Amino acid sequence: MTERKRLVAGNWKMNGLRADGRALARDVAARAREPHRCELLVCPPATLLETVGEALAGSDVALGGQDCHSEPKGAFTGCISAEMLRDAGCMYAIVGHSERRHTCGETDRDVRAKTLAAWRAGLVAIVCVGETRAEREAGRAETVVESQLLGSVPENATAGDLIVAYEPVWAIGTGLTPTMADVTEMHAAIRARIPAGARILYGGSVNPKNAAEILALNEVDGALVGGASLKAEDFWAIAYACR
Ligand code: PEP
Repeated sequence: MTERKRLVAGNWKMNGLRADGRALARDVAARAREPHRCELLVCPPATLLETVGEALAGSDVALGGQDCHSEPKGAFTGCISAEMLRDAGCMYAIVGHSERRHTCGETDRDVRAKTLAAWRAGLVAIVCVGETRAEREAGRAETVVESQLLGSVPENATAGDLIVAYEPVWAIGTGLTPTMADVTEMHAAIRARIPAGARILYGGSVNPKNAAEILALNEVDGALVGGASLKAEDFWAIAYACR
């Protein structure tokens, strides 16, 4: 089986004006000239895709979108299609992030349609799944994640067009992380339900201090990083932990 190259992806969320985004992307691209053992991706807000894409030109840092609509075009005010992301230089689209599932009410069915849209446009879909604190405490974490996978990942997924990000909702932006045993167990459960060779990222309060321990786990193929991706130094320290 081919080796699963690790991926460290930054989700900038709704942060950054053009000057900040350009400076951050330039800093990441400059650091990425150093040898590194993972793929790198940044997902800025849609308004920064062009600026960040220009700043990353010539580097091996890829560009991704944070979400996409399921339709290619039409009367969907405020939305962005997967084709638009591709046209702006993206190679990846995050879909089903917990902030969209929980604050925008997105269902597994919506996430599945967005995954198909990403593929239609030639993008790799990063499908996010993860349980809430209450679900974990009720002993339902694995059942919830399995059900999200079943509903969100189309049956014709391949290792080349699908990445799953396991992001426990209670770990996002809180400074809390699951135990390494819990991460391993959940990633193994996910792996049993996705195509062989597809990568599984861990996301939820990854930072320069905990990255080495998390990224050393065999089951972890990289990280989806929120807050710490907004500082090039921290993002790079996480990427550097892929050894
Ligand atoms: C995220 O939003 O995908 C995320 C993992 O955020 P943070 O790293 O800030 O917890």
